[in-house]
Amino acid sequence: MNISHFIQKKIFRIIKYSSKKIKQNSYIVGGYVRDLFLKNNIVKSNDLDILTVGKGIKLAKEVSKIAFNKKSNGKYYYPTIRIFKRYGTAMLEYENKKIEFVGSRKESYKYNSSKPIVEIGTLKDDQNRRDFTINTLAISLNDYDYGKLIDPFDGLSDLRKKIIRTPLNSDITFSDDPLRMMRAIRFATQLKFFIEDNSFRSIKKNKNRIKIVSKERITEEFNKILLSDNPSIGLILLYKSGLLKIILPEVTILEGIEIKDGFQHKNNFYHTLKVVDNISKKFYKSSLWLRWVALLHDIGKPNSKKFSYKIGWYFHDHEYIGSKMIPKIFNRFRLPKGNIIKYVIKIIKYSYRPAALTGNRISDSAIRRLLFDLGNDLEDLIKLCLADITTNNTEKKKEYKKNILYLMKRIKELEKKDRIINWKSPISGYDIMNTFYITPCNKIKVIKDYIKDSILDGKIKNNFYSAYSLMIKKGKDLGLRKK
Ligand code: ATP
Ligand code: MG
Repeated sequence: MNISHFIQKKIFRIIKYSSKKIKQNSYIVGGYVRDLFLKNNIVKSNDLDILTVGKGIKLAKEVSKIAFNKKSNGKYYYPTIRIFKRYGTAMLEYENKKIEFVGSRKESYKYNSSKPIVEIGTLKDDQNRRDFTINTLAISLNDYDYGKLIDPFDGLSDLRKKIIRTPLNSDITFSDDPLRMMRAIRFATQLKFFIEDNSFRSIKKNKNRIKIVSKERITEEFNKILLSDNPSIGLILLYKSGLLKIILPEVTILEGIEIKDGFQHKNNFYHTLKVVDNISKKFYKSSLWLRWVALLHDIGKPNSKKFSYKIGWYFHDHEYIGSKMIPKIFNRFRLPKGNIIKYVIKIIKYSYRPAALTGNRISDSAIRRLLFDLGNDLEDLIKLCLADITTNNTEKKKEYKKNILYLMKRIKELEKKDRIINWKSPISGYDIMNTFYITPCNKIKVIKDYIKDSILDGKIKNNFYSAYSLMIKKGKDLGLRKK
């Protein structure tokens, strides 16, 4: 294949020039090269990894003196370099690409750490320490063999055969830096490649070594799996390798079917995988967090599972129990707190509500409450409910979908009429305090809740005058008097 068009790009010529000047050989490596050969000349990667035999920071500084970006106002500026002294790497942004400069390394590892002892090495040393053959490909940016592909491990052939394989002994590669096990599965998921048997056996064997890897690095790979087109590919590989049980046992425990007295429940693990895949369809445009919601939406089931000889298996309150389990998991994965975790908890907590609201007689007040409790997140809850329909029974599937579509129609109508999503009480706490001349106390909450409930139930109109009269009446009941 012809890559001459790519290496003619200005940035590569600048790197060639700079490398020659400081007498360090340089190569394009990593995702950029992979994409180049994989996708018939379409590079998706927004990062560019440059390997130089010598000091990465030195090359980055040299390049930044020549490579300039154009601002929207037509002016030029030289990119600023971010230096990571600890790793001896540097990064600069050029034409919206992040370019990372790394010096070639030779690594050796101690058994109890995934942090290597690093020495400066040759190109070959550096290729040896890379994780997979498809990631060992290097394209020369040197004057004497500009554009030549250096492929000592037949990475190109593995790329064509869609194979993920470690360049050296798999046990050593995975044991040295166990994050590579997650990376193997991440690449298999993103690229829809197969992990070669030997390498996969080695992941199974070394799975417990994942415990020495920092949580942040694990999460980064896990999130990439969730953000792919078919996260179930990775989740199944994580499950089969035994890694999922170590990092997320709350999900692996969903596997299995119990049969009693002729009743059986669905396999909630495989159901969950389908829901995650469904929600990851392009059509839904799901964020990472909605994918986490899908992954965790049923984790309360094992702890709520009960059996009745009349109705079979049931999982009463599983969504509430599940929502209570989220903080521990988010903490373990070092996922964000604040609004993000609140969003995940909220959607899981209410995940069963829409299903409970099906049937022809859904009251306006129940829908108003849904709008009030979910607010702007109602749309995502509905996405989850649609993705949650995984039955193979086409009749049932049709019926469930119809129910949700009907609910959506009612939601739209009611929101248009009553404007509940961004609802704010027409009477504030201050109004109550001023009217009755009282200081902050529980009675204010009681009155506010009473007004809110009356509006949501449609008993009074959603305006100041109706709310004011109700406040006076309720105040009286509570022994308060207008000032
Ligand atoms: P992408 O950037 O698309 O996620 P990438 O392959 O470029 O994929 P990076 O994390 O940017 O991945 O790493 C760049 C290169 O560095 C990889 O292609 C690989 O050769 C090497 N690499 C990264 N992490 C490791 C690791 N843990 N062990 C060995 N080599 C690694
Ligand atoms: Mg990269």
